[in-house]
Amino acid sequence: MQRLDADKTIELLDRMGRLISSKAHASGLLPVHWETLRYLQRANRFSRTSAALTAFLGSTKGTVSQTVKALEGKGLVSNESDPKDRRKNVLALTTLAEQLLSSDPLLDLAETIEALSGSQRAGLNEGLRRLLTTQLTKQGRRPFGMCRDCAHFSAEHSAGAPHYCLLLREPLTASDSKAICQEQTPRQAAAG
Ligand code: SF4
Repeated sequence: MQRLDADKTIELLDRMGRLISSKAHASGLLPVHWETLRYLQRANRFSRTSAALTAFLGSTKGTVSQTVKALEGKGLVSNESDPKDRRKNVLALTTLAEQLLSSDPLLDLAETIEALSGSQRAGLNEGLRRLLTTQLTKQGRRPFGMCRDCAHFSAEHSAGAPHYCLLLREPLTASDSKAICQEQTPRQAAAG
């Protein structure tokens, strides 16, 4: 009986994944192009690098390099070396990419989700978050969770702006607290 429930959930996730992919061919972009643009929109300043993007996508260095080049060619991403560490690069969205993201084909799905009740949204978010975290952990991949849910996040810290990262020893703004990060360690995982 439990297996039937799991099979049903997998079928729903599979169909939803295909629905999302089919929307991702909008504006002449490939699904991975959209994933990259959305990642750069959500990632904090410590995570906007090709290496972090490679880890987030679970892809290879060569594939991500081609993706970044394609997006640079379309005028959607800039790729500069980091002035603090020349071995690293810094990826950023261009104004054109920000305009494109304001008409992201997934906004339609966001509207549908927002129409659910608060408890339905909370249950869906928590269930999907647990599924994703467990599967990523099994594969030895990082969760890339939200900063404010990180074990290293210190709210309203005396050296903060107003928050602070205890790992990287950097001040964090209210907007940083909602971004995703390659170093994120889920609070309960650190406690356990
Ligand atoms: S608190 Fe955690 S998620 Fe936030 S910047 Fe520091 S390591 Fe990253």
